Amino acid sequence: MTYVVTENCIACKYTDCVEVCPVDCFREGENFLVIDPEECIDCTLCVAECPAEAIFAEDEVPAEQQHCIALNAELAREWKPIIARRDPLADADDWNGIEGKLKQLKR
Ligand code: SF4
Ligand code: SF4
Repeated sequence: MTYVVTENCIACKYTDCVEVCPVDCFREGENFLVIDPEECIDCTLCVAECPAEAIFAEDEVPAEQQHCIALNAELAREWKPIIARRDPLADADDWNGIEGKLKQLKR
């Protein structure tokens, strides 16, 4: 199993999750992070750290976010690792909780 970043991370990208991951399996895009399913060891540590509550175990991803499982796998192959926390996007708090953010995703 793996853990999956879902849509509420888009345009927020607080990056608190990155600090706690023992295997550095987060991958960074311009306004979204994903988890590399090949590297995640299911430690669960990142879940509680995410201020956007965007991270779920693969078998607990909400029905309307199921597409994020394949999206994490796809983008993890393209994006580079992020291993240190950085400042969130400037308007992260304004975007936190907004539904339908997939169209905001910058690949
Ligand atoms: S803490 Fe949550 S919102 Fe922030 S980068 Fe990680 S998954 Fe995205
Ligand atoms: S569950 Fe653990 S290993 Fe997987 S992404 Fe989160 S912190 Fe990293």
